[in-house]
Amino acid sequence: MSKLHANESKTQEYLTRYMEGVTKRNPGQPEFIQAVYEVASTIFPFIADKPIYHEMQILERMAEPERVISFRVPWTDDQGRIRTNRGWRVQFNSAIGPYKGGLRFHPSVNESVLKFLGYEQTFKNSLTGLPMGGGKGGANFNPKGKTDLEIMRFCQSFMTELYRHVGADTDVPAGDIGVGGREIGFMFGQYKRITNQFVGVLTGKGIEYGGSKMRTEATGYGAIFFLRNMFAQHNDSIEGKTVLISGSGNVATHAAEKCLHLGAKPLTMSDSGGFIHCKDGFTQDQIDWIKDLKNVRRGRISEAADEFNNISFHQGRPWGVPGDCAVPSATQNEVNAEEAAVMIKNGIKAVAEAANMPCDQEAVEAFIAADVLFGPAKAVNAGGVGVSGLEMSQNSARIAWDTDHLRTLLENMMRDIHDSCVQYGNTGGKNTNYLQGANVAGFVKVADAMIAYGHV
Ligand code: NDP
Repeated sequence: MSKLHANESKTQEYLTRYMEGVTKRNPGQPEFIQAVYEVASTIFPFIADKPIYHEMQILERMAEPERVISFRVPWTDDQGRIRTNRGWRVQFNSAIGPYKGGLRFHPSVNESVLKFLGYEQTFKNSLTGLPMGGGKGGANFNPKGKTDLEIMRFCQSFMTELYRHVGADTDVPAGDIGVGGREIGFMFGQYKRITNQFVGVLTGKGIEYGGSKMRTEATGYGAIFFLRNMFAQHNDSIEGKTVLISGSGNVATHAAEKCLHLGAKPLTMSDSGGFIHCKDGFTQDQIDWIKDLKNVRRGRISEAADEFNNISFHQGRPWGVPGDCAVPSATQNEVNAEEAAVMIKNGIKAVAEAANMPCDQEAVEAFIAADVLFGPAKAVNAGGVGVSGLEMSQNSARIAWDTDHLRTLLENMMRDIHDSCVQYGNTGGKNTNYLQGANVAGFVKVADAMIAYGHV
Protein backbone atom coordinates (compact mmCIF):
# COMPACT_ATOMS: atom_id res chain seq x y z
CA MET A 1 0.00 0.00 0.00
CA SER A 2 1.44 3.44 -0.89
CA LYS A 3 2.07 5.94 1.94
CA LEU A 4 -0.71 8.16 0.55
CA HIS A 5 -3.24 5.35 0.62
CA ALA A 6 -2.13 4.25 4.08
CA ASN A 7 -2.71 7.83 5.35
CA GLU A 8 -6.10 8.00 3.65
CA SER A 9 -7.26 4.76 5.21
CA LYS A 10 -6.03 5.89 8.65
CA THR A 11 -7.97 9.15 8.25
CA GLN A 12 -11.07 7.18 7.26
CA GLU A 13 -10.61 4.95 10.31
CA TYR A 14 -10.40 8.03 12.63
CA LEU A 15 -13.51 9.49 11.00
CA THR A 16 -15.47 6.25 11.41
CA ARG A 17 -14.47 5.93 15.06
CA TYR A 18 -15.25 9.58 15.71
CA MET A 19 -18.69 9.33 14.11
CA GLU A 20 -19.47 6.18 16.11
CA GLY A 21 -18.82 8.20 19.26
CA VAL A 22 -20.92 11.16 18.10
CA THR A 23 -23.78 8.82 17.10
CA LYS A 24 -23.68 7.03 20.46
CA ARG A 25 -23.69 10.26 22.45
CA ASN A 26 -26.59 11.79 20.50
CA PRO A 27 -29.29 9.13 20.13
CA GLY A 28 -32.35 10.15 18.12
CA GLN A 29 -30.62 13.26 16.70
CA PRO A 30 -30.17 12.49 12.97
CA GLU A 31 -29.95 16.11 11.76
CA PHE A 32 -27.20 16.89 14.26
CA ILE A 33 -25.24 13.75 13.35
CA GLN A 34 -25.62 14.58 9.63
CA ALA A 35 -24.21 18.09 10.20
CA VAL A 36 -21.25 16.82 12.25
CA TYR A 37 -20.43 14.20 9.60
CA GLU A 38 -20.50 16.77 6.82
CA VAL A 39 -17.91 18.90 8.65
CA ALA A 40 -15.79 16.08 10.09
CA SER A 41 -15.42 14.31 6.72
CA THR A 42 -13.64 17.37 5.34
CA ILE A 43 -11.73 18.35 8.50
CA PHE A 44 -10.11 14.96 9.28
CA PRO A 45 -8.05 14.96 6.04
CA PHE A 46 -7.02 18.59 6.74
CA ILE A 47 -5.80 17.85 10.29
CA ALA A 48 -4.19 14.49 9.42
CA ASP A 49 -0.70 16.04 9.65
CA LYS A 50 -1.53 18.57 12.40
CA PRO A 51 -1.30 16.64 15.72
CA ILE A 52 -2.16 19.64 17.88
CA TYR A 53 -5.84 19.45 16.86
CA HIS A 54 -5.93 15.77 17.84
CA GLU A 55 -4.05 16.27 21.11
CA MET A 56 -6.37 19.09 22.11
CA GLN A 57 -9.46 16.98 21.19
CA ILE A 58 -10.78 19.90 19.19
CA LEU A 59 -13.33 18.05 17.05
CA GLU A 60 -14.62 16.14 20.09
CA ARG A 61 -15.10 19.37 22.05
CA MET A 62 -16.62 21.15 19.06
CA ALA A 63 -19.34 18.50 18.75
CA GLU A 64 -20.57 19.15 22.30
CA PRO A 65 -22.60 22.33 22.86
CA GLU A 66 -21.33 24.48 25.72
CA ARG A 67 -24.90 24.60 27.07
CA VAL A 68 -28.43 23.54 26.06
CA ILE A 69 -31.28 25.31 27.84
CA SER A 70 -34.81 23.94 27.52
CA PHE A 71 -37.83 25.62 29.05
CA ARG A 72 -41.62 25.74 29.29
CA VAL A 73 -43.49 28.39 27.29
CA PRO A 74 -47.06 28.73 28.55
CA TRP A 75 -49.37 31.17 26.73
CA THR A 76 -53.06 31.88 26.38
CA ASP A 77 -54.94 31.62 23.08
CA ASP A 78 -57.77 33.92 21.99
CA GLN A 79 -60.35 31.55 23.48
CA GLY A 80 -58.70 31.91 26.88
CA ARG A 81 -57.25 28.37 26.86
CA ILE A 82 -53.80 27.83 28.34
CA ARG A 83 -51.39 26.28 25.82
CA THR A 84 -47.88 24.96 26.47
CA ASN A 85 -44.90 24.72 24.11
CA ARG A 86 -41.25 23.89 24.60
CA GLY A 87 -38.54 26.49 24.04
CA TRP A 88 -34.76 26.03 23.70
CA ARG A 89 -31.55 27.97 23.40
CA VAL A 90 -28.49 26.02 22.32
CA GLN A 91 -25.34 27.97 23.23
CA PHE A 92 -22.94 26.03 21.08
CA ASN A 93 -19.55 27.66 20.97
CA SER A 94 -18.34 31.03 22.30
CA ALA A 95 -14.64 30.67 21.40
CA ILE A 96 -14.55 33.70 19.12
CA GLY A 97 -17.41 35.85 20.43
CA PRO A 98 -20.85 35.94 22.07
CA TYR A 99 -23.23 33.18 20.94
CA LYS A 100 -25.10 34.35 17.86
CA GLY A 101 -27.78 32.65 15.78
CA GLY A 102 -31.47 32.72 15.03
CA LEU A 103 -34.67 31.64 16.75
CA ARG A 104 -36.96 29.27 14.83
CA PHE A 105 -40.68 28.83 15.55
CA HIS A 106 -41.93 25.75 13.70
CA PRO A 107 -43.62 22.50 14.77
CA SER A 108 -40.59 20.52 13.50
CA VAL A 109 -38.23 22.21 15.98
CA ASN A 110 -36.52 19.83 18.43
CA GLU A 111 -33.13 19.53 20.11
CA SER A 112 -31.55 17.72 17.15
CA VAL A 113 -32.55 20.41 14.67
CA LEU A 114 -31.35 23.21 16.95
CA LYS A 115 -28.06 21.46 17.69
CA PHE A 116 -27.40 20.98 13.96
CA LEU A 117 -28.17 24.64 13.34
CA GLY A 118 -26.04 25.85 16.29
CA TYR A 119 -23.11 23.65 15.23
CA GLU A 120 -23.25 24.94 11.63
CA GLN A 121 -23.64 28.49 12.89
CA THR A 122 -20.31 28.29 14.72
CA PHE A 123 -18.40 27.75 11.45
CA LYS A 124 -20.55 30.17 9.49
CA ASN A 125 -20.01 32.99 11.96
CA SER A 126 -16.30 32.36 11.90
CA LEU A 127 -16.33 32.67 8.10
CA THR A 128 -17.82 36.19 8.28
CA GLY A 129 -14.59 37.44 9.86
CA LEU A 130 -16.60 39.03 12.71
CA PRO A 131 -16.24 38.11 16.41
CA MET A 132 -19.34 35.94 16.85
CA GLY A 133 -19.75 32.50 18.43
CA GLY A 134 -22.45 30.01 17.43
CA GLY A 135 -25.92 29.45 18.89
CA LYS A 136 -29.49 28.70 17.87
CA GLY A 137 -32.86 28.49 19.56
CA GLY A 138 -36.58 28.43 19.09
CA ALA A 139 -39.75 26.58 19.96
CA ASN A 140 -41.97 23.79 18.62
CA PHE A 141 -44.67 26.43 18.18
CA ASN A 142 -46.63 26.73 14.94
CA PRO A 143 -47.25 30.40 14.13
CA LYS A 144 -49.49 29.49 11.16
CA GLY A 145 -53.12 30.43 11.70
CA LYS A 146 -52.40 32.33 14.93
CA THR A 147 -53.62 35.90 15.41
CA ASP A 148 -51.26 38.80 16.03
CA LEU A 149 -52.32 38.85 19.69
CA GLU A 150 -51.61 35.14 20.11
CA ILE A 151 -48.19 35.61 18.52
CA MET A 152 -47.53 38.53 20.86
CA ARG A 153 -48.48 36.55 23.96
CA PHE A 154 -46.33 33.63 22.83
CA CYS A 155 -43.30 35.84 22.12
CA GLN A 156 -43.64 37.64 25.45
CA SER A 157 -43.83 34.36 27.35
CA PHE A 158 -40.84 32.98 25.41
CA MET A 159 -38.74 36.04 26.30
CA THR A 160 -39.87 35.99 29.92
CA GLU A 161 -37.67 32.91 30.33
CA LEU A 162 -35.06 33.54 27.62
CA TYR A 163 -34.05 36.99 28.90
CA ARG A 164 -31.98 35.57 31.77
CA HIS A 165 -29.79 33.56 29.36
CA VAL A 166 -29.06 36.21 26.71
CA GLY A 167 -27.40 39.64 26.61
CA ALA A 168 -25.63 42.00 24.23
CA ASP A 169 -22.23 40.56 25.24
CA THR A 170 -23.43 37.01 26.04
CA ASP A 171 -25.83 35.71 23.42
CA VAL A 172 -27.58 37.70 20.69
CA PRO A 173 -30.42 35.82 18.94
CA ALA A 174 -31.99 36.83 15.60
CA GLY A 175 -34.87 35.61 13.42
CA ASP A 176 -35.16 32.39 11.40
CA ILE A 177 -38.09 30.34 10.05
CA GLY A 178 -41.30 31.67 11.62
CA VAL A 179 -39.51 34.55 13.33
CA GLY A 180 -39.51 37.79 11.35
CA GLY A 181 -39.74 41.49 12.15
CA ARG A 182 -43.07 41.16 13.99
CA GLU A 183 -41.81 38.49 16.40
CA ILE A 184 -38.46 40.23 16.98
CA GLY A 185 -40.40 43.40 17.87
CA PHE A 186 -42.55 41.58 20.46
CA MET A 187 -39.51 39.86 21.99
CA PHE A 188 -37.30 42.96 22.06
CA GLY A 189 -40.13 44.95 23.68
CA GLN A 190 -40.49 42.30 26.39
CA TYR A 191 -36.71 42.15 27.02
CA LYS A 192 -36.55 45.91 27.39
CA ARG A 193 -39.52 45.91 29.74
CA ILE A 194 -38.14 43.17 32.01
CA THR A 195 -34.53 44.40 32.18
CA ASN A 196 -35.07 48.16 31.82
CA GLN A 197 -32.21 48.20 29.30
CA PHE A 198 -32.13 49.28 25.67
CA VAL A 199 -29.26 47.21 24.32
CA GLY A 200 -28.54 45.20 21.19
CA VAL A 201 -29.74 41.86 22.59
CA LEU A 202 -31.54 40.82 19.39
CA THR A 203 -30.79 41.53 15.74
CA GLY A 204 -33.25 41.87 12.89
CA LYS A 205 -34.92 44.72 14.79
CA GLY A 206 -37.03 47.38 13.09
CA ILE A 207 -35.07 50.37 11.76
CA GLU A 208 -36.93 52.66 14.22
CA TYR A 209 -35.58 50.85 17.28
CA GLY A 210 -31.97 49.90 16.55
CA GLY A 211 -32.25 47.64 13.51
CA SER A 212 -29.74 47.77 10.67
CA LYS A 213 -30.50 48.73 7.13
CA MET A 214 -29.88 45.83 4.72
CA ARG A 215 -30.49 43.16 7.41
CA THR A 216 -33.80 42.06 5.89
CA GLU A 217 -32.26 41.66 2.45
CA ALA A 218 -28.85 40.38 3.59
CA THR A 219 -29.26 36.58 3.45
CA GLY A 220 -30.94 36.38 0.04
CA TYR A 221 -28.80 39.11 -1.52
CA GLY A 222 -25.63 37.61 -0.04
CA ALA A 223 -26.50 34.17 -1.44
CA ILE A 224 -26.76 35.53 -4.96
CA PHE A 225 -23.54 37.53 -4.56
CA PHE A 226 -21.90 34.23 -3.64
CA LEU A 227 -23.41 32.52 -6.69
CA ARG A 228 -22.10 35.32 -8.90
CA ASN A 229 -18.64 34.95 -7.36
CA MET A 230 -18.63 31.17 -7.97
CA PHE A 231 -19.42 31.72 -11.64
CA ALA A 232 -16.80 34.47 -11.97
CA GLN A 233 -14.16 32.25 -10.35
CA HIS A 234 -14.88 29.60 -13.01
CA ASN A 235 -14.86 31.98 -16.00
CA ASP A 236 -18.62 32.17 -16.34
CA SER A 237 -21.27 34.74 -15.43
CA ILE A 238 -24.59 34.78 -13.62
CA GLU A 239 -26.06 37.08 -16.26
CA GLY A 240 -28.79 35.40 -18.30
CA LYS A 241 -28.88 32.29 -16.10
CA THR A 242 -32.22 30.74 -15.08
CA VAL A 243 -32.56 30.09 -11.34
CA LEU A 244 -34.75 27.60 -9.43
CA ILE A 245 -35.60 28.93 -5.97
CA SER A 246 -37.55 27.12 -3.25
CA GLY A 247 -39.32 28.82 -0.34
CA SER A 248 -41.11 32.15 -0.44
CA GLY A 249 -39.97 33.64 2.84
CA ASN A 250 -37.34 36.20 3.68
CA VAL A 251 -34.44 34.39 2.06
CA ALA A 252 -36.23 33.19 -1.09
CA THR A 253 -37.88 36.50 -2.03
CA HIS A 254 -34.67 38.50 -1.59
CA ALA A 255 -32.66 35.91 -3.50
CA ALA A 256 -35.17 36.25 -6.37
CA GLU A 257 -34.88 40.04 -6.21
CA LYS A 258 -31.06 40.01 -6.38
CA CYS A 259 -31.23 37.61 -9.35
CA LEU A 260 -33.16 40.31 -11.20
CA HIS A 261 -30.62 43.01 -10.22
CA LEU A 262 -27.80 40.87 -11.64
CA GLY A 263 -29.55 39.94 -14.88
CA ALA A 264 -30.55 36.37 -13.95
CA LYS A 265 -34.06 34.92 -14.26
CA PRO A 266 -35.77 33.48 -11.14
CA LEU A 267 -38.19 30.80 -12.40
CA THR A 268 -39.69 29.20 -9.28
CA MET A 269 -40.65 29.74 -5.62
CA SER A 270 -42.50 27.45 -3.20
CA ASP A 271 -43.98 26.86 0.21
CA SER A 272 -44.94 23.70 2.08
CA GLY A 273 -48.03 23.38 -0.17
CA GLY A 274 -46.21 23.23 -3.54
CA PHE A 275 -44.34 25.45 -6.00
CA ILE A 276 -45.03 28.17 -8.57
CA HIS A 277 -43.34 28.39 -11.96
CA CYS A 278 -43.01 31.44 -14.21
CA LYS A 279 -41.20 30.56 -17.41
CA ASP A 280 -40.62 34.26 -18.22
CA GLY A 281 -38.95 34.78 -14.83
CA PHE A 282 -40.68 36.67 -11.97
CA THR A 283 -40.81 40.45 -12.30
CA GLN A 284 -40.09 42.82 -9.41
CA ASP A 285 -43.85 43.56 -9.17
CA GLN A 286 -44.59 39.85 -8.81
CA ILE A 287 -41.88 39.43 -6.15
CA ASP A 288 -43.31 42.41 -4.24
CA TRP A 289 -46.78 40.85 -4.48
CA ILE A 290 -45.40 37.56 -3.07
CA LYS A 291 -43.64 39.40 -0.23
CA ASP A 292 -46.94 41.04 0.69
CA LEU A 293 -48.78 37.70 0.37
CA LYS A 294 -46.38 35.95 2.76
CA ASN A 295 -45.51 38.74 5.23
CA VAL A 296 -48.74 40.71 5.46
CA ARG A 297 -51.68 38.67 4.17
CA ARG A 298 -49.99 35.44 5.32
CA GLY A 299 -51.46 33.46 2.42
CA ARG A 300 -50.36 30.42 0.41
CA ILE A 301 -48.04 30.51 -2.61
CA SER A 302 -50.71 28.83 -4.80
CA GLU A 303 -52.61 32.15 -4.74
CA ALA A 304 -49.96 33.66 -7.06
CA ALA A 305 -51.21 31.40 -9.88
CA ASP A 306 -54.73 32.85 -9.47
CA GLU A 307 -53.37 36.39 -9.64
CA PHE A 308 -50.90 36.17 -12.59
CA ASN A 309 -51.59 34.56 -16.00
CA ASN A 310 -47.98 33.53 -16.61
CA ILE A 311 -47.56 31.78 -13.23
CA SER A 312 -48.61 28.14 -12.74
CA PHE A 313 -48.91 26.18 -9.48
CA HIS A 314 -47.72 22.57 -9.02
CA GLN A 315 -47.56 20.02 -6.21
CA GLY A 316 -44.20 19.02 -4.76
CA ARG A 317 -40.82 20.73 -5.06
CA PRO A 318 -39.43 22.71 -7.99
CA TRP A 319 -36.33 20.62 -8.77
CA GLY A 320 -37.76 18.94 -11.87
CA VAL A 321 -37.98 22.27 -13.74
CA PRO A 322 -34.95 22.69 -16.04
CA GLY A 323 -32.71 25.58 -14.97
CA ASP A 324 -29.06 26.69 -14.88
CA CYS A 325 -28.81 27.11 -11.09
CA ALA A 326 -30.66 26.08 -7.94
CA VAL A 327 -30.92 28.16 -4.79
CA PRO A 328 -32.82 26.08 -2.20
CA SER A 329 -34.10 28.64 0.30
CA ALA A 330 -36.79 26.89 2.41
CA THR A 331 -35.56 24.32 4.94
CA GLN A 332 -33.23 21.38 5.70
CA ASN A 333 -33.12 18.22 3.54
CA GLU A 334 -35.36 19.60 0.81
CA VAL A 335 -33.14 18.23 -1.99
CA ASN A 336 -32.51 14.48 -2.03
CA ALA A 337 -30.34 12.24 -4.22
CA GLU A 338 -33.11 11.56 -6.75
CA GLU A 339 -33.85 15.25 -7.15
CA ALA A 340 -30.13 15.99 -7.47
CA ALA A 341 -29.90 13.35 -10.25
CA VAL A 342 -32.78 15.02 -12.12
CA MET A 343 -31.12 18.42 -11.86
CA ILE A 344 -27.78 17.03 -13.04
CA LYS A 345 -29.53 15.36 -15.98
CA ASN A 346 -31.15 18.70 -16.82
CA GLY A 347 -27.71 20.34 -16.96
CA ILE A 348 -27.65 22.31 -13.71
CA LYS A 349 -24.40 24.31 -13.47
CA ALA A 350 -24.44 25.61 -9.89
CA VAL A 351 -26.21 25.02 -6.58
CA ALA A 352 -26.08 27.64 -3.83
CA GLU A 353 -27.53 26.52 -0.49
CA ALA A 354 -29.36 29.60 0.83
CA ALA A 355 -31.32 27.61 3.44
CA ASN A 356 -29.45 25.67 6.14
CA MET A 357 -28.47 22.12 5.01
CA PRO A 358 -31.16 21.98 2.29
CA CYS A 359 -29.31 19.25 0.36
CA ASP A 360 -28.97 15.88 2.04
CA GLN A 361 -25.58 14.16 2.17
CA GLU A 362 -26.15 12.05 -0.96
CA ALA A 363 -27.33 15.05 -2.96
CA VAL A 364 -24.22 17.03 -1.97
CA GLU A 365 -21.96 14.15 -2.98
CA ALA A 366 -23.78 13.80 -6.31
CA PHE A 367 -23.40 17.49 -7.16
CA ILE A 368 -19.69 17.52 -6.32
CA ALA A 369 -19.05 14.27 -8.23
CA ALA A 370 -20.81 15.75 -11.29
CA ASP A 371 -18.62 18.90 -11.18
CA VAL A 372 -21.60 21.12 -10.39
CA LEU A 373 -20.42 24.26 -8.58
CA PHE A 374 -21.69 23.63 -5.07
CA GLY A 375 -21.86 26.46 -2.51
CA PRO A 376 -22.55 25.12 1.03
CA ALA A 377 -24.96 26.93 3.33
CA LYS A 378 -22.46 28.08 5.89
CA ALA A 379 -20.76 30.18 3.21
CA VAL A 380 -23.67 31.03 0.92
CA ASN A 381 -26.11 32.29 3.56
CA ALA A 382 -23.55 33.89 5.89
CA GLY A 383 -24.53 37.38 4.70
CA GLY A 384 -27.52 37.32 7.06
CA VAL A 385 -25.55 36.79 10.22
CA GLY A 386 -22.83 39.02 8.77
CA VAL A 387 -25.16 42.01 8.68
CA SER A 388 -26.52 40.95 12.09
CA GLY A 389 -22.93 41.31 13.32
CA LEU A 390 -22.85 44.78 11.79
CA GLU A 391 -26.15 45.55 13.57
CA MET A 392 -24.43 44.58 16.86
CA SER A 393 -21.53 46.92 16.05
CA GLN A 394 -23.90 49.80 15.27
CA ASN A 395 -25.88 49.18 18.49
CA SER A 396 -22.72 49.11 20.61
CA ALA A 397 -21.47 52.35 19.05
CA ARG A 398 -25.00 53.83 19.02
CA ILE A 399 -24.75 54.81 15.38
CA ALA A 400 -26.61 53.88 12.18
CA TRP A 401 -24.84 53.34 8.86
CA ASP A 402 -26.58 54.12 5.58
CA THR A 403 -27.79 51.56 3.04
CA ASP A 404 -25.03 52.16 0.49
CA HIS A 405 -22.32 51.64 3.09
CA LEU A 406 -23.94 48.43 4.37
CA ARG A 407 -24.50 47.08 0.86
CA THR A 408 -20.81 47.56 0.14
CA LEU A 409 -19.84 45.87 3.42
CA LEU A 410 -22.13 42.91 2.59
CA GLU A 411 -20.79 42.58 -0.93
CA ASN A 412 -17.19 42.71 0.31
CA MET A 413 -17.94 40.21 3.07
CA MET A 414 -19.39 37.73 0.57
CA ARG A 415 -16.34 38.21 -1.67
CA ASP A 416 -13.98 37.54 1.25
CA ILE A 417 -15.95 34.43 2.31
CA HIS A 418 -15.85 33.18 -1.26
CA ASP A 419 -12.10 33.79 -1.47
CA SER A 420 -11.49 31.96 1.85
CA CYS A 421 -13.37 28.96 0.42
CA VAL A 422 -11.19 29.07 -2.69
CA GLN A 423 -8.04 29.30 -0.53
CA TYR A 424 -8.87 26.08 1.37
CA GLY A 425 -10.99 24.37 -1.28
CA ASN A 426 -8.49 23.70 -4.00
CA THR A 427 -8.41 19.90 -4.02
CA GLY A 428 -6.97 19.52 -7.50
CA GLY A 429 -10.35 18.85 -9.15
CA LYS A 430 -11.83 20.76 -12.07
CA ASN A 431 -13.79 23.05 -9.74
CA THR A 432 -13.14 24.55 -6.33
CA ASN A 433 -14.45 22.27 -3.57
CA TYR A 434 -16.41 24.98 -1.72
CA LEU A 435 -17.66 22.49 0.89
CA GLN A 436 -14.17 21.64 2.03
CA GLY A 437 -13.07 25.27 1.66
CA ALA A 438 -15.87 26.62 3.87
CA ASN A 439 -15.50 23.95 6.54
CA VAL A 440 -11.74 24.30 6.86
CA ALA A 441 -11.72 28.11 6.73
CA GLY A 442 -14.45 28.26 9.39
CA PHE A 443 -12.80 25.58 11.53
CA VAL A 444 -9.27 27.00 11.75
CA LYS A 445 -10.18 30.23 13.53
CA VAL A 446 -12.46 28.60 16.11
CA ALA A 447 -10.03 25.73 16.70
CA ASP A 448 -7.06 28.03 17.21
CA ALA A 449 -9.02 30.15 19.70
CA MET A 450 -9.96 26.98 21.62
CA ILE A 451 -6.31 25.91 21.70
CA ALA A 452 -5.35 29.34 23.06
CA TYR A 453 -7.78 28.89 25.99
CA GLY A 454 -6.38 25.51 27.04
CA HIS A 455 -8.72 22.80 28.33
CA VAL A 456 -12.06 24.63 28.58
P1 NDP B 1 -39.26 32.11 6.43
O1 NDP B 1 -40.04 31.65 7.60
O2 NDP B 1 -39.31 33.55 6.06
O3 NDP B 1 -39.65 31.26 5.14
C1 NDP B 1 -39.53 29.87 5.12
C2 NDP B 1 -40.04 29.38 3.78
O4 NDP B 1 -39.73 28.00 3.68
C3 NDP B 1 -41.55 29.49 3.65
O5 NDP B 1 -41.85 29.70 2.30
C4 NDP B 1 -42.04 28.13 4.13
O6 NDP B 1 -43.29 27.74 3.60
C5 NDP B 1 -40.95 27.24 3.56
N1 NDP B 1 -40.84 26.01 4.36
C6 NDP B 1 -40.57 25.91 5.68
N2 NDP B 1 -40.58 24.61 6.04
C7 NDP B 1 -40.87 23.91 4.94
C8 NDP B 1 -41.01 22.53 4.65
N3 NDP B 1 -40.87 21.60 5.61
N4 NDP B 1 -41.30 22.17 3.37
C9 NDP B 1 -41.44 23.09 2.40
N5 NDP B 1 -41.32 24.42 2.60
C10 NDP B 1 -41.03 24.81 3.84
O7 NDP B 1 -37.75 31.63 6.71
P2 NDP B 1 -36.41 32.24 6.12
O8 NDP B 1 -36.59 32.63 4.71
O9 NDP B 1 -35.89 33.23 7.10
O10 NDP B 1 -35.44 30.96 6.23
C11 NDP B 1 -35.35 29.99 5.18
C12 NDP B 1 -34.09 29.17 5.38
O11 NDP B 1 -32.94 30.03 5.36
C13 NDP B 1 -33.99 28.38 6.69
O12 NDP B 1 -33.25 27.20 6.46
C14 NDP B 1 -33.18 29.32 7.57
O13 NDP B 1 -32.52 28.61 8.62
C15 NDP B 1 -32.18 29.85 6.56
N6 NDP B 1 -31.53 31.09 6.94
C16 NDP B 1 -32.25 32.22 7.16
C17 NDP B 1 -31.61 33.39 7.48
C18 NDP B 1 -32.35 34.68 7.61
O14 NDP B 1 -31.69 35.72 7.69
N7 NDP B 1 -33.68 34.70 7.63
C19 NDP B 1 -30.15 33.44 7.69
C20 NDP B 1 -29.48 32.21 7.33
C21 NDP B 1 -30.16 31.09 7.02
P3 NDP B 1 -44.61 27.82 4.51
O15 NDP B 1 -45.05 29.25 4.45
O16 NDP B 1 -45.57 26.86 3.87
O17 NDP B 1 -44.20 27.37 5.88
